Amino acid sequence: MADILDLSALELRDAIAAGETSSVEATEAYLDEIESTDGRLGAFNEVYAERASERARSADSKRADGSAGELCGVPVAVKDVLCTPYGHTTCSSKILANFRAPYPATTVAKLEDAGAVILGKTNCDEFAMGSSTENSTRGPTRNPRDLDRVPGGSSGGSAAAVAACQCAAALGSDTGGSIRQPAAFCGIVGFKPTYGRVSRYGLVAYGSSLDAVGPMTRNVSDAALLTQVIAGKDPKDSTSLDEPVPDYLANIETPVESLRIGLPGEFFSDALDPEIAATIRKAADLYKKSLGAKIVDVSLPHSRIDRDGNGDLSSYAVACYYIVAMSEASSNLARYDGAHYGHRTPESGLDIVEMYSKTRAEGFGEEVKRRIMLGTYTLSAGYYDAYYNKAMKVRRLIKNDFDKAFEACDVLLCPVAPTTAFAIGEKSGDPLTMYLADIYTISVNLAGLPGIAIPAGLSKNALPIGMQLIGPLLSEEKLLRVARMFEKASACPS
Ligand code: GLN
Repeated sequence: MADILDLSALELRDAIAAGETSSVEATEAYLDEIESTDGRLGAFNEVYAERASERARSADSKRADGSAGELCGVPVAVKDVLCTPYGHTTCSSKILANFRAPYPATTVAKLEDAGAVILGKTNCDEFAMGSSTENSTRGPTRNPRDLDRVPGGSSGGSAAAVAACQCAAALGSDTGGSIRQPAAFCGIVGFKPTYGRVSRYGLVAYGSSLDAVGPMTRNVSDAALLTQVIAGKDPKDSTSLDEPVPDYLANIETPVESLRIGLPGEFFSDALDPEIAATIRKAADLYKKSLGAKIVDVSLPHSRIDRDGNGDLSSYAVACYYIVAMSEASSNLARYDGAHYGHRTPESGLDIVEMYSKTRAEGFGEEVKRRIMLGTYTLSAGYYDAYYNKAMKVRRLIKNDFDKAFEACDVLLCPVAPTTAFAIGEKSGDPLTMYLADIYTISVNLAGLPGIAIPAGLSKNALPIGMQLIGPLLSEEKLLRVARMFEKASACPS
């Protein structure tokens, strides 16, 4: 057997099931790895060593008495926006620094019911707002491929932990690209399922009409395995879909017949790093020449990327996303008032309005405050029609473009991000440039579609390049198979 840390989640599960190793052994190996590497990486906000060891022992005895679940004994990490009734759930924010959730997120409960061992909570941008994991009270997470670079965000801690073999797999959340972009930056697989495919219950809300929980894994089969475990209707989340969950793993090795892959022309403009463009075109070639797919040109006009009069990049999708996401964020974050959750200003003798405003001024970081202010503005009586309502109309146009594109193809192939991982500090002083890190991922959330990021190659300076596959609503099974076809045929170095 290979080194235990090198096994995928599926391989590890099978090795434990076959008695070749145990969950206790695997869990100890991961805990040691975290201990020795996380000082450098900063991927974890909290590690539950004792609890994990205890859970590993119980997984081993379940295996022995034949009642093992689908993830029996597999050590995983979860992003610190998912509630657990043990430890803290902080969203990497000072305002929730001491918050202990009274109940688990449905996704976490499902992982544990399937026998997974939760190692700890991973770092992220505060309330998942960011693209670099630099907006965190805990400090930034570093990219394991190059410690001077960001791991992407906001699920950068989960991506780094998976890439650095600190866990077998992890969960992230994706509101505008936060699973896919860090997966691409760290050279792993990140899967954002259809909106509503996976319960949001116990996921601390950022943009409720956009948020999705999904797996971040070493390979496509692991993404299928984790999605299998976490997907499904949840009576506690009224937006979760009451649709049967197919067996995502059963046919994962079966190539999709008569596959048509669409290349959205708008995503290959001069905004895209030429090396990434070349890698994606090479992937399209591989689908065509080795896998028998037909490549078709499609158009997503409302997701196009333009240059304004000053030569700066602009995009309807980015503008629309940031209005919708910030409006929803400003409303969701109103609940942090010092009375119900987390931090409360230590100052006494304040009236209630002063208490609220001091608490929020002390508790929220700069980016979160910026978004609360912008979102409050776009929702305010005089501006609602000009911004929020207009953004909702653009959102519909973006969705219509995808519907039309899927008449001509089964899945879309495109970049995940316009660049590879950038240097720590490079964009943190310039929010608008940072927002442009999401130009290829946000339309997917606006349209509610599933999207997967998988490794496609390496840049000249050995940084991972990811590619994105996007499918119609609830096309997870096919999308995973199409991703697996490439993974198998390319044997891409990751
Ligand atoms: N970077 C985007 C934002 O800051 C997306 C974040 C996310 O998907 N959570 O909103």
